[in-house]
Amino acid sequence: MQERQPRTRAEPREVVELKQLKTSQPELATAIEMQLALVEMQRRVQSRVPLPWIHPDPAWILSQQRAGRPLVRFGDIPLHWSDFRLTLRQTADILRRFDIIDAPEHERVMQLARDGDLLQPLVEKWYQTTSGVEEATLRERYADPEMPTLDQLLVLALRPFLARSAEALAQRVDLSEWHYGHCPYCGWEPELAVITPSADRRLICGRCLGQWAFGALVCPFCTNEERALITSFATRDGRYRVSACDVCRRYLKAYDARNAPRPVMMAVDAIATLPLDAAAAQKGYTG
Ligand SMILES: [Zn+2]
Ligand SMILES: [Zn+2]
Repeated sequence: MQERQPRTRAEPREVVELKQLKTSQPELATAIEMQLALVEMQRRVQSRVPLPWIHPDPAWILSQQRAGRPLVRFGDIPLHWSDFRLTLRQTADILRRFDIIDAPEHERVMQLARDGDLLQPLVEKWYQTTSGVEEATLRERYADPEMPTLDQLLVLALRPFLARSAEALAQRVDLSEWHYGHCPYCGWEPELAVITPSADRRLICGRCLGQWAFGALVCPFCTNEERALITSFATRDGRYRVSACDVCRRYLKAYDARNAPRPVMMAVDAIATLPLDAAAAQKGYTG
């Protein structure tokens, strides 16, 4: 009689791809290890977060879109605070392990994560000021000199929850009229783009991973569309491209999905393109 094999769960595609990348580009090993730790943690959290029931008023949706204001209100995010606090602590632990944050900042973040009275209003204010959903709030980047990595930590820790809200809205709202460079769901900036098989460009939000269509030859950061002032270059295999703006000096990377063996995967492609970031920085552009 044959013995039964122990059941092994198939690894998620992005984990498989990241491990393959480590073999083909060993110089990226440390960045890949950190990404694997983050991906595994975020998947664990996100599997516990239910798809929220968001049904905004169609007239409100229209007025938000016309004003360039995104659609996910803070109250729409299915935030369970104990889960969020745990996610923030685990994110800080991973960033500490890979030396992205130093020990004193790590300790401050741990304290913040423990103190619900402090954390909840801080996260809400951070979201309000960085999303621009509400008319009155000023768009600004949150900055705390004592915790220089807080912005990055909050982006990562909020993602499993916020991504669910974007997912829920994407199923019910038509965003074909959204022509802005910032995310229609959460107002953050694009971190990557994908060139679709029909040669259109879709931008991918660096915070909620929401996607939206945007002109292939327009700078999403300053709306410059003069072709002579857009510099682009690609990897040798043509898989990835950069388009850099000579007006605002910012750039955006893209995954070229034409003739590609798999769809875009932010967790993988953001790491695979680290050499392109270095190339862009060398040419004087900022991300
Ligand atoms: Zn977003
Ligand atoms: Zn620009």
